[in-house]
Amino acid sequence: MSLTRVRLLVMNAALGPLDYKVPEGMQVEHGSIVIAPLGPRQVTGIVWESERLPATSVPEEKLRGLLAVLDVPPIRAELRRLIEWTADYYVAPLAPVARMVISSGGALRGPATMTEYRLTGGTPERMTPQRAAAIEALEGEQGTIRELSGIADVSEGVLRGLVNQGVLEPVEVDVDRPYTRARADFHLPNLSADQREVADQLVAAVNAAEFAPILLDGVTGSGKTETYFEAVGAAIAEDRQVLVLLPEIALTEAFLSRFESRFGAAPIVWHSSLKSTERRRAWRAIASGEAQVVVGARSALFLPYANLGLIIVDEAHEISFKQDDGVRYNARDVAVMRAHFEKVPVVLASATPALESLHMADSGTYEKLVLPSRFGGAQLPDIKLIDLTEEKPGSGAWIAAPLRAALEDRLAKGEQSLLFLNRRGYAPLTLCRHCGFRFQCPNCSAWLVEHRLSQRLACHHCGHETAPPEKCPECGEPDCLVACGPGVERIADEVAEILSDARVAVVTSDTLNSPEKAAEFVAMAEAKAIDVIVGTQLVTKGFHFPELTLVGVIDADLGLEGGDLRAAERTYQQVAQVAGRAGRGAKPGEVLIQTRHPEAPVIAALEAGDRDAFYEAETDARRYAGAPPFGRWAAIIISSEDEREAREAAQRLGDTRPHLDDVQVLGPAPAPMALLRNRYRYRLLLNARRTANLQAVVRDWLGGIDHPPGVRVGVDVDPYSFV
Ligand code: ADP
Ligand code: ZN
Repeated sequence: MSLTRVRLLVMNAALGPLDYKVPEGMQVEHGSIVIAPLGPRQVTGIVWESERLPATSVPEEKLRGLLAVLDVPPIRAELRRLIEWTADYYVAPLAPVARMVISSGGALRGPATMTEYRLTGGTPERMTPQRAAAIEALEGEQGTIRELSGIADVSEGVLRGLVNQGVLEPVEVDVDRPYTRARADFHLPNLSADQREVADQLVAAVNAAEFAPILLDGVTGSGKTETYFEAVGAAIAEDRQVLVLLPEIALTEAFLSRFESRFGAAPIVWHSSLKSTERRRAWRAIASGEAQVVVGARSALFLPYANLGLIIVDEAHEISFKQDDGVRYNARDVAVMRAHFEKVPVVLASATPALESLHMADSGTYEKLVLPSRFGGAQLPDIKLIDLTEEKPGSGAWIAAPLRAALEDRLAKGEQSLLFLNRRGYAPLTLCRHCGFRFQCPNCSAWLVEHRLSQRLACHHCGHETAPPEKCPECGEPDCLVACGPGVERIADEVAEILSDARVAVVTSDTLNSPEKAAEFVAMAEAKAIDVIVGTQLVTKGFHFPELTLVGVIDADLGLEGGDLRAAERTYQQVAQVAGRAGRGAKPGEVLIQTRHPEAPVIAALEAGDRDAFYEAETDARRYAGAPPFGRWAAIIISSEDEREAREAAQRLGDTRPHLDDVQVLGPAPAPMALLRNRYRYRLLLNARRTANLQAVVRDWLGGIDHPPGVRVGVDVDPYSFV
């Protein structure tokens, strides 16, 4: 039955819900995506159940008519409920959440074609070396001029010349042409007994087609991926869609080739840097149900799957699942809610689960499936500490003698090593040795980080960059700048000094910033064209290099100094994950951890390889602090370009704070990042018992106060970053 009067959730957070009438003959249902008039303009909206979206009622005769219904499937009720839940839980307006669903403008415009080109077999009147090379390279290829120019490595102008000469011909293709089908049984693995048992349970959960949150807890290299692929196979065999969330796009290349060898076709990839044609093609295939398996970053979570059968969150402990701007949500948690509304299983896979996830498993809310040992009998690496208070590296050096010796040993044996330091660039601070001037970001309370490879000083918070000056901007002294502290580039230099013959690769988000570069790095490491990898947290996960037998952690204490809530857990996870890169093949691995605090509980647990001891100590600490999962946090960030305006707005909020037994309000105080992207920032922190309705408290409190237009108030429920 078609509706005659509708209420719209419009894609504009400044507007409330709006009512319209449906012109005769127009077929509209709940979830339809429509175009409506708004004054002289038009807005896109989703038809919502009016009883779920309160608005002041407009009399029938004042209603304007909808203009069009878009040619895409309506947003299903399950997803409408997820949009509501997300907005409610994260204290966000509905519109920006809904915009994450309607995330391809092109997809809404209906079917489309585009022009691609291919060789005709003809030859140009005048053959040039460039043309000859292009023709050879394009044999059997078809694509847009831009794609072909990438393939042939010639300018677009050269190709347009070939089009004019009739050597390349245009072909109209459907933008939304179908994807190659994946096959559940393309290449079946031989699972170990442990793996088989877990796989059977995952497959049973898929076939039961009910909500089932599952924690897949398996040590690094135990075959979690191999095992959950069986569940993926079971879902596609039933023609149900699968979503696999991965934390990092740099990881996807290796994952994609592995997926393709298992299922005979690549999955559909979704991330923020997709071309708009690929984006609309994926979106429409997902909405029509044609897409089988989608692998994506957190934004893939909100896509309009027609027929979802399974969600996997791989490396579920990763903090990159937490979005820290716009709608501040945690994709791991929203994934569980999506599975709940869709009534499907959701698998959180990790070797170092978040304490919250383990707690849910231990209390029986999540089912826990365990893969206790590495596949193929590979041993977990041997972990030793290097006490930096005793083994001091020389001045201007960061690699202590035992780690140097181990690096030399591996190089002599032709094995690979990995050094981990979670700091990009060459040095975290640059100062003038003459006057002490420190290079600071003009927009943020942060030091500028020297990047020697790209010859710039950069702010890691706002992206501000400047060329390193020849003389001090303060005292004018030339050649007086000194680098303080190490970043990965500086460690790589130190390695090159120790091992002059070694081939060293620096791996960070600066150097591995595209899927192609990531693939190139993996290929080189696998071909043993790299001896030592020096990297940030990017190298802690996913990679599998059988010849890598030594992992060195340059500074295990670094993560503990930030003073944030999950610092201990994060240090534990990072070091355990990076340690998990060692000894994945036949040869045993060794891990050397440099620390000034060998007695700290996190470090001691790492050395003993005693995961349970770490989690127990951390659980006690959290219980004592009323921190998650025993209590809940929410942060409120007040910012303005004007310092006084920000301070006064924060003060006003502080003055009207709620006084409740089960919610404590701390602050306002200047945020640790007191200036960020030219905005002055103040913070309040709420700590609530589990019994409190934290969201309602926040909404009531903030809803009662008006601020000047220059003030922004952000809410971060379950915050990770305390900057
Ligand atoms: P995890 O996700 O737990 O780190 P992976 O699934 O990546 O583990 O497996 C680690 C390595 O062992 C991979 O190279 C994988 O191909 C291999 N492996 C795991 N299980 C099997 C199996 N049953 N048969 C063949 N290779 C396997
Ligand atoms: Zn900055």
